Amino acid sequence: MTSRSTHVLDTLVVGAGPAGVGIALALDAVDTLRYGLVERGTVGETFRRWPAEQRFLTPSFTGNGFGATDLNAVHPKTSPAFSLGLDYPNGRDYARYLGGVVRHFTVPVLQDTEVTTVVPSAGGFTVRTSRGTVEARTVVWAGGEFHEPSQARFVGGGLTDHSSTAAAWSHRSGRLVVVGGYESGIDIACHHVEQGAQVTVIDPDHPWDAGDGSDPSYRLAPRSRQRLVTAQATGRLVLSSAGRVVGVKTVHGGGLAVSVGGVGGVASDSRPILATGFGPGLGPVSGLFDRREDGWPLLDDNDESTMTPGLFLSGPSVRHGGLKFCFVYKFRQRYAHIARVIGERLGKDCAGLEAWREAGMLTDDLSCCGVECAC
Ligand SMILES: Cc1cc2nc3c(=O)[nH]c(=O)nc-3n(C[C@H](O)[C@H](O)[C@H](O)COP(=O)(O)OP(=O)(O)OC[C@H]3O[C@@H](n4cnc5c(N)ncnc54)[C@H](O)[C@@H]3O)c2cc1C
Repeated sequence: MTSRSTHVLDTLVVGAGPAGVGIALALDAVDTLRYGLVERGTVGETFRRWPAEQRFLTPSFTGNGFGATDLNAVHPKTSPAFSLGLDYPNGRDYARYLGGVVRHFTVPVLQDTEVTTVVPSAGGFTVRTSRGTVEARTVVWAGGEFHEPSQARFVGGGLTDHSSTAAAWSHRSGRLVVVGGYESGIDIACHHVEQGAQVTVIDPDHPWDAGDGSDPSYRLAPRSRQRLVTAQATGRLVLSSAGRVVGVKTVHGGGLAVSVGGVGGVASDSRPILATGFGPGLGPVSGLFDRREDGWPLLDDNDESTMTPGLFLSGPSVRHGGLKFCFVYKFRQRYAHIARVIGERLGKDCAGLEAWREAGMLTDDLSCCGVECAC
């Protein structure tokens, strides 16, 4: 790939996390499709950066042989549970799994290559990277969201640590406030309770007791609920839905005060933790997507940008109506669909993708998703 290159790829995939590696493997099943994968760090870069204490919430289990593909697998014939010997991998473990998959299937990946701009052109896209320019007919953005931690929307936000940082997981003693009570908030709150801190989680939407529905995008995962019960039994965990955090300030004599609208102040002996999630992380393609009312990228039924034909999105920022594809087992359902749309437009044979459907890894009819469990 050089600035004078005339080589045109059919598809360039940006980002070598589970979304990018998975989509690359599906593209590989399309006959004679020329594709490439670029990654600004190394394969599984985000997972290498996860705080050491953080583990998957979705369990891995090698059910592949009976049509129940491991929930965290990115290819029908792989299983993190099998290759790692673990059911709840941490970030480093999962990065190892992804690296192994890339090596096993010889995925063409260019590491240490950052995409800086993506410009639509007559034949597709001109993509500028830290190593030169590449032309591609289509682009799949799989850059993830981890590099866009949500910002505090209150005064004194600079006095907080985002839950994705190592600082947030460092030892805390005494009282600690966690802002946000969904998965990442409960995860880090339980961690600090286990370490002996007295934790107050503040979230006016009280996601910890979302009783209706069985979708883990709206309800705490079983592992989190179990940990919550154990943490509450210590008497050192308070869950508060009394109001919204409106400010944080330092207190004369030490510590911080977290102001909660309509309630007053809650003391935190160390920097409060912000566990309010991530943005869509679109980076250089941000301007190439329209937005939904809730701010997430607007996509058509093929996960393609509604304003930039040929630009697809893979990963946890995919939303269709009320469906959130924010777990691996959800967004992987779209790898083979996107690969088939790209392949068919170029007149390629896509029969190889049927193996993905047989493994339960292809959802092309969005109306079938979101079925609730009866019990
Ligand atoms: C704390 C946390 C816990 C989670 N737990 C689970 C779980 O238990 N189970 C589950 O299924 N999901 C979980 N998720 C959700 C989801 O699986 C992860 O967010 C996952 O990392 C998403 O995969 P991805 O490939 O889209 O993004 P990433 O893994 O972030 O990969 C994106 C890659 O793109 C690269 N990149 C970004 N920008 C550029 C650029 N400009 N040029 C080149 N490369 C670029 C990055 O370096 C990175 O390697 C969790 C998410 C978080 C944040």
